[in-house]
Amino acid sequence: MGAHPRAVHPVRTAAVHTQLRNGLQGPEYMRRMRIRVQRAGARILDHSPVTELLTDPSGAVAGARGYRRQEGGAYRVRAGAVVLATGGCAFLSGALGCNVNTGDGALFAAEAGAELSGMEFSTAYGIAPEGTSVTKGAFYSFATFYHADGTVLEGAASQGGRSVIARALLHEKVYCRLDRADAPARRAMRLAQSNFFLTFDRLGIDPFTELFAITLLAEGTVRGTGGIRITGDDCSTTVPGLYAAGDAATRELICGGFTGGGSHNAAWAISSGTWAGQGAARYALSYGRRGATRLLAPTGGAGLRPTRTPGPADVHREVIAAVQNEVLPYEKNYLRHGTALVTSLAALDATWDEVRSALLGTGPDAVRAREAAAMTAHARWMYASALARTESRGMARRLDFPAQDPAQRHRIVTGGLDEVWTRPEPVAALLETAS
Ligand SMILES: Cc1cc2nc3c(=O)[nH]c(=O)nc-3n(C[C@H](O)[C@H](O)[C@H](O)COP(=O)(O)OP(=O)(O)OC[C@H]3O[C@@H](n4cnc5c(N)ncnc54)[C@H](O)[C@@H]3O)c2cc1C
Repeated sequence: MGAHPRAVHPVRTAAVHTQLRNGLQGPEYMRRMRIRVQRAGARILDHSPVTELLTDPSGAVAGARGYRRQEGGAYRVRAGAVVLATGGCAFLSGALGCNVNTGDGALFAAEAGAELSGMEFSTAYGIAPEGTSVTKGAFYSFATFYHADGTVLEGAASQGGRSVIARALLHEKVYCRLDRADAPARRAMRLAQSNFFLTFDRLGIDPFTELFAITLLAEGTVRGTGGIRITGDDCSTTVPGLYAAGDAATRELICGGFTGGGSHNAAWAISSGTWAGQGAARYALSYGRRGATRLLAPTGGAGLRPTRTPGPADVHREVIAAVQNEVLPYEKNYLRHGTALVTSLAALDATWDEVRSALLGTGPDAVRAREAAAMTAHARWMYASALARTESRGMARRLDFPAQDPAQRHRIVTGGLDEVWTRPEPVAALLETAS
């Protein structure tokens, strides 16, 4: 997670893979990956978010447009194929590292005609000390949760009891202490994830012996599983020339309806990036030089090309607030119920109408406008899919349908912009496609 890296290149993911194999960590392998990519002849555009995809007359994705934040000015890239690796969407909730995860890639993909899958698996909320962003959750398995008077909040747990915490937070403060860790575990925890303790050290709190107030921060499809639907084992999508990797793509294929934290997310980002990069490179090579002369047309709508008279330049702020009002509250998103979902979806549809007709961002504001549009679209796909799954399965829990229904052992595919649609997709059919 980090600053916008911008240019997507097949060599990138292969390089990560090799360096992980060689035992390099975080910033060091990112640095080496850059060097390797540059040596391979790629030009990296830092801090240059993509704002829309470009397609050729057949509808195949053939490039992208974006804005260079530091140098100023728009840019356009002609490409044989595009891999979307823009991450999931956490709705600017303040969760650690998620301020760049506004679901842009899903919007770009849908505008080009791609589908999404598993968007109902998007109720991820991470535990964080109140007023902080640190949603690293592993160590809360050592926690006991308390009411303000110091009595234990019965049933509350990091895993299998987080909804008890969400319910309590609706009307009271909830406190926590990592008092189930013994002395050797405490030492090991400090060594294993030192950044987990940075916040506590700064606040002057010993989390093993002192109570601290906690909150839950939405992590949407970052720690959910939904994303762009993949149709082949090269991470292709339903749109020729378009590939998806990492959190931008659905992770149902590796972990069904629940991810939470854990290594499978990073493993998927690396693996799917490698496969998507190889698939995109093969596709681009099949075009040969013909690719360089294709006519390109922009696909971006909401936030770039309003259908009516545009509103003031900062409308995106109102849009973001309106979307957050429907997706951050626990009682709407975490503790989902059909009645509330219908009401929220209607509100989000109205926000989309406003976005589509009046939101216009130009220059650097184009990036903000597109983020706001992407968050709106993401929320609508999430809630439409949640309504289509009338049961509780994995992360897609419904208070009005608490049991799992064996008849709904299928995926929910969704898409559409002005009109959002959903349809069930048999799991067996998908596995056959992917095999
Ligand atoms: C607090 C936290 C802890 C986690 N811990 C773990 C863990 O221990 N193990 C694990 O496996 N997983 C963990 N995860 C999940 C893991 O971080 C993600 O699965 C992984 O980062 C996904 O990688 P990605 O490259 O697909 O997306 P990201 O890491 O989100 O990267 C997406 C990139 O796309 C860029 N981007 C976004 N929009 C645009 C645009 N319009 N144009 C250009 N670029 C754009 C962003 O700037 C960002 O750099 C954790 C997640 C969180 C939030």
